[in-house]
Formats: sequence, structure tokens, C-alpha cells
Amino acid sequence: MEYKNIVLPAKKSIALVAHDNKKQDLLAWCNTHRDTLAAHKLYATGTTGSLIAGETGLDITKLISGPLGGDQQIGALITEGKVDMLIFFWDPFEPMPHDPDVKALLRIAAVWNIPVACNQSSADFIVSSPLFNGESSHVVPDYEAYIASRSQKQL
Ligand code: PGA
Repeated sequence: MEYKNIVLPAKKSIALVAHDNKKQDLLAWCNTHRDTLAAHKLYATGTTGSLIAGETGLDITKLISGPLGGDQQIGALITEGKVDMLIFFWDPFEPMPHDPDVKALLRIAAVWNIPVACNQSSADFIVSSPLFNGESSHVVPDYEAYIASRSQKQL
């Protein structure tokens, strides 16, 4: 795989997701960091987004609820470069009907090298990084080079 460098603007696009037993934790985290989060573009899965928007007044683009495909929507936005960061408070103690989607989302986040917080302490580190509110750069797969090399192979 070839990689290329991309520059992220100071205003990031951030996806927020919490499983049911973690929703209050994510809500409390969003309340703590409300002013910081307000400077960014926010996405969330359906129930998480409704709860956080209702309680904090943050402007959130709400996707489909996770079990109905919301995690996959976030994954698609990551591949399109439209989500730069994932704050995902998932529940390690409950099996989920959409476990395959959760795994797929975490895989896509790794493929596209975006910062991911799977718990509150990681989210605290991410939100307090100077990169959170500033321009930053990271490497992502070079899709054009990938397609060019595949077409040369004449599959
Ligand atoms: P929800 O989905 O925000 O609609 O509850 C989250 C999830 O379970 O992935």
C-alpha cells in the first residue's frame, strides 16, 4: 500500500457514538468539552446524537441508529474523508446485534489512520492534544496509486 500525506484543517469532523450503557458517560464528556466541541463539525449515530443534541444544544448531524446501519454510515464517511476522528464509547460487557458493524467501523478507522477513542481516558487525551484545535497532518492510503497499481496487474 502506498500512502500520502493529508492536512486536516483546524475545524475537524468528529463522529460520536456510544452504546446504551455508555451514553451517559459520553453525554457527560460532551458537556465537559461542550465549548471545544462546538468549534467542530459533529456527526453521531441516531440515538446518541438525539441525546447529546437535546442535552447540550450542540449542532449534530444525526445518522441512522447504530443497529440499523449508523456505524456503517460513519465508516463510509471515513472512507470519503468526511469524518476525521471517532469518539466511540463502546460497551465491552454487552454483545451487540451489530457487532460485525462495530468491528468493521474500527477496521475502517484503522485503514484511514484516523484518531479513535474507545473510552473516556483516550477521549480526554485526544481533546487535550494541541492537534485537536489546530491544523494537523497524517498519512492515508493513496487511493489513486492503489487503483493504478491494480490496473497494471491486469486482474
Ligand atoms: P445509537 O447507536 O446511537 O443509535 O444508539 C449506537 C450504536 O449502538 O452503535
